[in-house]
Amino acid sequence: MSDVHEGGCLCGSVRYQVTADPEVSIVCHCKACQHRTGSAFGIGAYFPKANVKFLSGDLKTFEFKSSTSDRWVKNEFCQQCGTTVTWTLEMRPNDRAIAAGTFDKPGWHSIARHIWTESAHPWVVHPSDALVLEKGSPS
Ligand SMILES: [Zn+2]
Ligand SMILES: [Zn+2]
Repeated sequence: MSDVHEGGCLCGSVRYQVTADPEVSIVCHCKACQHRTGSAFGIGAYFPKANVKFLSGDLKTFEFKSSTSDRWVKNEFCQQCGTTVTWTLEMRPNDRAIAAGTFDKPGWHSIARHIWTESAHPWVVHPSDALVLEKGSPS
């Protein structure tokens, strides 16, 4: 398997490339991820910043303090189509998350943990081989 993976936003203007495996991939069931995605959860693949390269497109930043974790989150999304492609967290300042649904070939990396499951939608079934946490990742 190649250790370079690419992806981008819905309209195709934002494109990125990552190298190597993510340090960790997390499914997050918090309210902020539910709002950001308009769906049941977000999937973040976390890479050291140096392993993420943006190839094209313009990102706009929306920074807010999460009411779940009480820490800042910086979401970055395509100015054309609004897809949130990446974000950074106060908790992981040296990492950059890639919204894992934006990979050209999603699912190439495994999901290590599910967090904030206390606010998971009631129909969600958590996989038995992942770490499942009612609250956030331990700091
Ligand atoms: Zn776009
Ligand atoms: Zn979240």
